[in-house]
Amino acid sequence: MIPPSFEYFRPNTIPEAIALLQEYGDEAKILSGGQSLIPMMKLRLARPAYLIDINCIAGLSYIKEEDGLLKVGGLTREGELEASLLIASKYPIILDTVRVIADPQVRNLATVGGNLAHGDPANDHPATMLALGARIVATGPSGARTIAIEDFFLSLFSTALQPGEILTEIRIPIPPSHSGGSYFKLERKVGDFATAAAAAQLTLDDKGVVQNVGIGLTNVGPKPLKAEKAETFLRGEKVDAAQIEQAAQLAADEARPSSDLRGPAEYKKGLVKELAKRALSRALERAGK
Ligand SMILES: Cc1cc2nc3c(=O)[nH]c(=O)nc-3n(C[C@H](O)[C@H](O)[C@H](O)COP(=O)(O)OP(=O)(O)OC[C@H]3O[C@@H](n4cnc5c(N)ncnc54)[C@H](O)[C@@H]3O)c2cc1C
Repeated sequence: MIPPSFEYFRPNTIPEAIALLQEYGDEAKILSGGQSLIPMMKLRLARPAYLIDINCIAGLSYIKEEDGLLKVGGLTREGELEASLLIASKYPIILDTVRVIADPQVRNLATVGGNLAHGDPANDHPATMLALGARIVATGPSGARTIAIEDFFLSLFSTALQPGEILTEIRIPIPPSHSGGSYFKLERKVGDFATAAAAAQLTLDDKGVVQNVGIGLTNVGPKPLKAEKAETFLRGEKVDAAQIEQAAQLAADEARPSSDLRGPAEYKKGLVKELAKRALSRALERAGK
């Protein structure tokens, strides 16, 4: 299928891209990896008259630790995250997540910025970023601002990005020692979007008591969900298998799935319980190492 016609721009700097976004407003869309936007255009679900391709803007792709934060450039490809030694050694929850996104061809082009900016509750990074307590850097006509990840996803395909803003960076607090995280997803076949998935990140003190916990859920609501009741239940506790079971039940209660081709809502709630249990158990194991 061929997308409707559009005018194509390839700016070399962020200010140029922002100026184009301002000039063409609602009729313009940023093009990053194109792995969500182009299929939507082919299906006539999106009809931007102007595409602003940011792939030639230098300095938007990086993975580095700086000032107590993991900083990931908005244009960083999934494949780059997957190959990063820093991610593999210190952020296994991100590696778990990237590995179950689509397939290698898609991951070579798709960007983490696009995955978040698209606002699709079926995408995998949002739940993981909710669990990690990330902040989003949005750069627009009046400069850069940061948005807490829990304020970023507004509703289906809608985020807190304002017209004229580009997602330029994701910032994640570097987890202290005794931290661990993991992501578990069930998909109908390899490369599919999640039927459901759960991300969990834990930080323990030296007595094994939970200091900080984040739990995110994929594709079980109109937007990516943070399982706040389950988090509150675990915070301040020395966690064992029975508490993980209870927290996973709370996460399932917080899920708001709908019935569709991937299964009935009740089944998906049961799935959230099991996936949250597995994600929390693996996170606890990793935090203890
Ligand atoms: C076959 C297939 C399977 C897939 N399976 C999965 C999966 O299992 N899990 C998963 O998470 N994803 C999956 N995806 C989606 C893929 O990861 C997307 O590429 C990703 O969601 C969007 O990233 P992108 O860089 O391709 O963005 P694009 O498609 O270029 O853009 C997507 C949207 O975000 C906007 N945008 C992009 N970058 C920015 C930015 N920096 N600032 C502001 N707005 C921006 C665009 O204007 C557009 O509206 C799949 C895609 C395909 C084709």
